[in-house]
Amino acid sequence: MKISFNGACKEVTGSCILIETGSTKFLVDCGMFQGKSYYKNIEDFPFDPEDIDFVLLTHAHLDHCGRLPKIFMEGFRGRIYSTLPTRDLAEIILLDALNVSRIENKPFVHPLCQESDIKQLMRFFTCLDYGNKRKINDNIEIRLRDAGHILGSAIFEVWIKEDGITKKLVFSGDLGNMSNPIVKDHEFIDSADLLFIESTYGNRLHESKKMGETILIQEVKNTINKNGVLMIPVFSLERTQEMLYRLNSFFEEQKINGVNIFLDSPLAIKATNIYKQYVDFFDKEAKELIFKGDDIFDFKGFKMVKGETDEVLNASMPKIILAGSGMFEGGKIGIYLKKYLSNPLATLLIVSFQVDGSLGRKVISGERKIKVDNKEVEINAKISTIFSFSSHSDHRMLFDWAVKANPKKIFVVHGEEPASQFLAESINGVVPDYNTFYNF
Ligand SMILES: [Zn+2]
Repeated sequence: MKISFNGACKEVTGSCILIETGSTKFLVDCGMFQGKSYYKNIEDFPFDPEDIDFVLLTHAHLDHCGRLPKIFMEGFRGRIYSTLPTRDLAEIILLDALNVSRIENKPFVHPLCQESDIKQLMRFFTCLDYGNKRKINDNIEIRLRDAGHILGSAIFEVWIKEDGITKKLVFSGDLGNMSNPIVKDHEFIDSADLLFIESTYGNRLHESKKMGETILIQEVKNTINKNGVLMIPVFSLERTQEMLYRLNSFFEEQKINGVNIFLDSPLAIKATNIYKQYVDFFDKEAKELIFKGDDIFDFKGFKMVKGETDEVLNASMPKIILAGSGMFEGGKIGIYLKKYLSNPLATLLIVSFQVDGSLGRKVISGERKIKVDNKEVEINAKISTIFSFSSHSDHRMLFDWAVKANPKKIFVVHGEEPASQFLAESINGVVPDYNTFYNF
């Protein structure tokens, strides 16, 4: 079989792997490039989308599903296999991405794509549960396993029969962190022939979650004490829901109180409503809280902002504002950064991975002046970071997971070059280049 890498090579966005056997061609993910690689979304695929028989979609993050509208507009009409939550979340994520590209006046992955095309694309999903083998054709079987990354995220096991020999391919998708709230821990896979593993944190170890939670409580208390504002940029999927889950717990346990908390992100609000429909996918702790009658995404002083951004700006201090996007670009967070970043009573708490080239990365690297929506803003606010809330496995977890899978060959993708190389060296893997192929 032939394996081609069409994204997320030595970078974290644009996931897209093409597998070609004698009779079948399929993709694993078809994601959007973000940050400084955005221009690659406009490039032609090195394959004809009409020839693709099906797509395996690991999860609904834009860097995994964002070029589905492009292959669809260019003639792909096969099935897209995913879990149910992935389908529902992918729909709002893709519609939002189209909308953002219009607002920001930047080209979408396909220039002619309309909302109706994305709605049409959703009809091509076939949704599967975790754990059951599914025959796709005479030579291919698949099984989804829980990747523990965001709601509905999946690891794909794929059995491919060629010339009477069956090989097992395993695609990690994005592999979740252990003991994160809401989602279950990722599953382990064994007996792989060929393994494709992400490496976002391939060269780092996470701080302890306890420490992250201590920082979060401390920053909330500091904000209350100095009568200031705490801004937390959040991704709409998972990070928002996890932050609400944690804040809800802190309020219930009376570790914090006396402050208004706002979520200003239309997309995160939609995603949270989808989360509420899939309680079956939650871990034991989250289910127990819900069973006891706790709304894990709501608590005293919390408000979902549905268009009243002015109300949040005018609300008295102290206040906490969660807003998208997680990397500061697009979304409502820009409004608050412009208003508060120069205020020494403000705190900016960064709780998400910041891709190379993003505004968030610049702030972490210590830049004291940044451009938000074309306005230069001086940073006088306190900058605080928590990296342990990551939805990705760290080096040790990736290493353990790869070793248990015991594969004959490993490809390391979805990481910046140093991260991918470091992980690859430790597990004897190969880091492919963009638009290259291998035979296996
Ligand atoms: Zn992801």
